[in-house]
Amino acid sequence: MFPLGHDELTALTRQFPTPFYLYDERAIRENMRAFTQAFSSFPRFREYFAVKACPNPYLLKILADEGCGADCSSRAELELADMAGIRGERIMFTSNDTPADEYRRAFALGAILNLDDITHINFLKEALGGQFPFTISFRYNPGPLKVGGNAIIGKPEEAKYGLTRDQLFAAYEQSRALGARHFGLHTMVASNELHSDFFIDTARLLFELCGDIKAQLGIAIEFVDFGGGIGIPYRPEEVPVNFDTVARGIKALYERIIVPAGLDPLGTYWECGRPITGPYGYLITTAIHEKHIYRDYIGVDACMADLMRPGLYGAYHEITVSGKEAAPRTHVYDVVGSLCENNDKFAVQRALPKIDRGDLLIIHDAGAHGRAMGFNYNGKLRCGEILLRDDGSFKEIRRRETLDDLFATIDVAGVNDFCSRSRAEWANQTRR
Ligand SMILES: *Cc1c(COP(=O)(O)O)cnc(C)c1O
Repeated sequence: MFPLGHDELTALTRQFPTPFYLYDERAIRENMRAFTQAFSSFPRFREYFAVKACPNPYLLKILADEGCGADCSSRAELELADMAGIRGERIMFTSNDTPADEYRRAFALGAILNLDDITHINFLKEALGGQFPFTISFRYNPGPLKVGGNAIIGKPEEAKYGLTRDQLFAAYEQSRALGARHFGLHTMVASNELHSDFFIDTARLLFELCGDIKAQLGIAIEFVDFGGGIGIPYRPEEVPVNFDTVARGIKALYERIIVPAGLDPLGTYWECGRPITGPYGYLITTAIHEKHIYRDYIGVDACMADLMRPGLYGAYHEITVSGKEAAPRTHVYDVVGSLCENNDKFAVQRALPKIDRGDLLIIHDAGAHGRAMGFNYNGKLRCGEILLRDDGSFKEIRRRETLDDLFATIDVAGVNDFCSRSRAEWANQTRR
């Protein structure tokens, strides 16, 4: 539910001109509590919020306050976690193709390192100058053993992530020989998946593997990490994943597989991003143009640089018009941004109420993988982020970018006398 009425939103846009992202703190907190509650029967549940989904340290702070850790996959994400006071084993470092300095920083912060390949064992040891962490985790890619996957991650056997089953066994042995004493097992084989059975199946796969690892290697895995991938209903007809159903299904398997294998208490970790903040972030934009050619277009002041999911993979985002929520959807529009790219469209042939210039459009479910994926193509400046606090006040948690930000990496003064031709020469040349 969008938290602001038309008058409140209009007043807000006087203080903060559109476009901007709006996040709903109360809804994020309540949702995180529901997620935690669903898994409360597990002895060692943890959610490591996937920082990439919404990399704002203020939001990380709210989530840390609700008991979350941070799942990081890059240097910048590690620094964001650190900014929010999330350190040590409250950071899960699940990266791939990882540069040495990022391993060093993650290790220095005390993060749990979750390796994406068997060759990273020696790479990590080298990066750390011969040291090796006591706690180590590996990302498993079940390949064709796991049916499913979907458009965003694809089939596991075609995905670049993780170790094969054989490599996994070898990796635990190798890292034990290097001094590791605590072990974790991770997989992530879906993205934006709405079927709860999918996650229960994945848990079965990991739990059985824990049993096999113990039987074959005598290594007791101390935590499994189910990764992210829990979807959200972007389309009005879709149904959200029921956290309780997922938790109950996994708990039954825990009792059946983990307890008899002597692996209880086992940590059960998640790295969810999308279902934590996704539905509670909105991109607010103003209709600035109306154009009628072969189709009818509404041009807005946000563009694909602010939210690229629709342009990148044709993703659907619900759009409502502030103040016209109850109006009949009598018009069919393409809602577009200003990039010189024809896929810069927030909606294609979408039935909406009649939109007038100046109307405020609310683009829903933009709270994860929204602004984070933004870019600066066409010199577009990414918008800022506003937090609606649970006391009803507003806080700007990131300002809009400026041209100075955009040009900060260019030595502008140096351009002046670089490759200079005089005006006279230019005039001569064009005359000839
Ligand atoms: C993207 C990602 C996540 C978060 O995925 P969501 O779909 O946002 O929940 C978690 N872990 C890893 C390794 C990822 O790449």
